[in-house]
Amino acid sequence: MILPIVAYGDPVLRREAEEIGQDYENLSVLIDNMFETMEQANGVGLAAPQIDLSIRLFIVDTTPFVDSKGLSEEEKNEMNGFREVFINPIVIEEEGKPWAFEEGCLSIPGINEDVRRKPTVTIEYYNREWQLIEKTFSGLIARVIQHEYDHIEGVLFTDKINALKRRLISRKLESISKGIVDANYQMKFYKPRKAK
Ligand code: ZN
Repeated sequence: MILPIVAYGDPVLRREAEEIGQDYENLSVLIDNMFETMEQANGVGLAAPQIDLSIRLFIVDTTPFVDSKGLSEEEKNEMNGFREVFINPIVIEEEGKPWAFEEGCLSIPGINEDVRRKPTVTIEYYNREWQLIEKTFSGLIARVIQHEYDHIEGVLFTDKINALKRRLISRKLESISKGIVDANYQMKFYKPRKAK
């Protein structure tokens, strides 16, 4: 089932998400739905808060990134078919000299900006089979993981761009939060309750 993607402006994207247990209701169905939702939106990652669930879960599939410019054969091979579920992840360490890459986000359509991140990330997480894994990733895979991990911490990539750029896109962000957006997938916009 395809789920609507939460747009910028919804407080769920700003919440620190909570860990889940192995008995979390319909987890397997939820993960399938998240992959289906991400794929129809041509995303390479999707975090649970983006489908309105404040839980520590995200998925990554870097296959659509394989055609990106400047990748080595080794990187291409690693990214092709890299499809992983991260449950209750903890970033252990980030290392290396930060590098810039133009990021986007399914919750913030139409905005792409350079974000600087460290090139290597070591992360501990449970996979779909609930095996505890500790692994070090680098390059674009690391970047996608870092971006998605930020989501479960309530952080968005637009928080990480320089102040001038942030000012330049502020009106666009405001529009997205009001539902003025051109995305070719279904989105969900936050409607604050009117005070009585
Ligand atoms: Zn995102």
